[in-house]
Amino acid sequence: MMELHTVLDKLKLSLLAERVESVCEQASKRDLSYKEFLLEALSLELCDKQQKGIEQRTTLARLPYIKTIEQFDFSFQPSIDKKVIRELAGLSFVERSENVILLGPPGVGKTHLSIALAVKAIAAGHRVLFMTLDQMLTKLKRAREENKLEKVITTLIQPKVLVLDEIGYMPMSREDASLFFRVITRRYEKASTILTSNKSFVDWGDVFGDPVLATAILDRLLHHATTLNIKGESYRLKEKRRAGLLGASQNQKIETHLTEEEMFAELTTEDR
Ligand code: ADP
Ligand code: MG
Repeated sequence: MMELHTVLDKLKLSLLAERVESVCEQASKRDLSYKEFLLEALSLELCDKQQKGIEQRTTLARLPYIKTIEQFDFSFQPSIDKKVIRELAGLSFVERSENVILLGPPGVGKTHLSIALAVKAIAAGHRVLFMTLDQMLTKLKRAREENKLEKVITTLIQPKVLVLDEIGYMPMSREDASLFFRVITRRYEKASTILTSNKSFVDWGDVFGDPVLATAILDRLLHHATTLNIKGESYRLKEKRRAGLLGASQNQKIETHLTEEEMFAELTTEDR
């Protein structure tokens, strides 16, 4: 007969291998039945494996930071239907390979919500990848130069959930738009894409620099999609305002801490 440790190692039950002495000792102390013991020991290993899976998928997803739905203050953003978010958090859109499109001005929580949905998908065992549109296009263009476009596109098709953040912040060339189109077409009805944009759909023709391509892209994206049109104030500005950085004093020192979006908000407040 093999040693217990060897068997556990061969089965890759690594946590159990590590803790088998104390697990057995506990079981005999607590007078567990064979069945109870087996269940407890295997559950311990399963729990560890699930946790490691989540950690691994989180690393692979390259989320810029972690945000959860629980951290989102819905009372601040009443244009968001909580029911819709709850439904999305149930991830049936992932099972059905449907898309999610978050539209709205800067600071309203588009990236936060897309990350929060990604976190849910990771916890449920799905492969996820997060990138800004700009990062994806840079990657694709480099791949084309190095003659490995097909290979890189394949890596963008595999994740069950692909988050493409910040569509529309930068104007796209025809080459950009056609690369984007290829990715969307390949993922169509196979895997979910979550997109965020500060531009409404009517402006996407300008974003993609080609109305025909924009229509073809939207056609595929929207065929099975939930669109959230977020209208409201920037959460970042609210926090600044609460800290007394906006409105009260407007000196240079403070302005250097502000993003472009916040400067813009300051200007428009002044103009009023
Ligand atoms: P967007 O992507 O729409 O520009 P973000 O998702 O980056 O905005 O949000 C800006 C910051 O404000 C982030 O730190 C985010 O976590 C936070 N935030 C935005 N909206 C809310 C909200 N309703 N509740 C809690 N935090 C929010
Ligand atoms: Mg964002």
